[in-house]
Amino acid sequence: MQIDFQKSPDGLVPAVIQDSVTNKVLMLGYMNRESLEKTMLEGKVTFFSRSKNRLWTKGEESGNFLLVKDLMVDCDQDTILIKASPVGPVCHTGADTCWDEKNVGNDFLASLENIITDRKNNPSDKSYTASLFAKGINKIAQKVGEEAVEVVIEAKDNNDELFLNESADLLFHYLILLQAKGFQLSDVISVLKQRHK
Ligand code: AMP
Ligand code: ZN
Ligand code: ZN
Ligand code: ZN
Repeated sequence: MQIDFQKSPDGLVPAVIQDSVTNKVLMLGYMNRESLEKTMLEGKVTFFSRSKNRLWTKGEESGNFLLVKDLMVDCDQDTILIKASPVGPVCHTGADTCWDEKNVGNDFLASLENIITDRKNNPSDKSYTASLFAKGINKIAQKVGEEAVEVVIEAKDNNDELFLNESADLLFHYLILLQAKGFQLSDVISVLKQRHK
């Protein structure tokens, strides 16, 4: 990997850390050659901390490591983008990201999928989603069929509110069906991308 560490006099390049699942921007740190090598070797993000003036593995005290999923360099080799899976809260304030949640490009569908996975793995009596998983794939698939029919019916009407509501029902139940089959929206997107080539 070619990186222009000499571009800034201190030999540091910015590294943007992005959540590999939700696409949220989590934090920004600086890397020198040594911290990048350690990051790639260990699969955990290590910065060069300007305040500590030493290598800093994010999570070294808190245990909230950033596990590297993908690492990219920008167009002119002077900025790094790391897609990572955070073990815990990323910010030292205890928040998921160092920026205000509403400003970090959160992928809402991905967050919703995470909640659906959680309902599947930790079922509770009160959860409608958990009750659907308990009924099994056939029942979930049937529900998707029903919601699809409702979308068709509302598409013929001219009540936009009902059409949007049924569309939301369809999308939600479809996400549940995907998970019941062991997939996520990203698997479907991969198929679409393949076709696009
Ligand atoms: P950690 O690397 O999570 O074990 O945290 C060690 C120390 O690094 C904390 O006490 C903070 O001073 C600092 N720190 C942790 N996370 C961040 C962050 N996202 N941005 C800036 N400083 C941080
Ligand atoms: Zn650049
Ligand atoms: Zn922070
Ligand atoms: Zn419906």
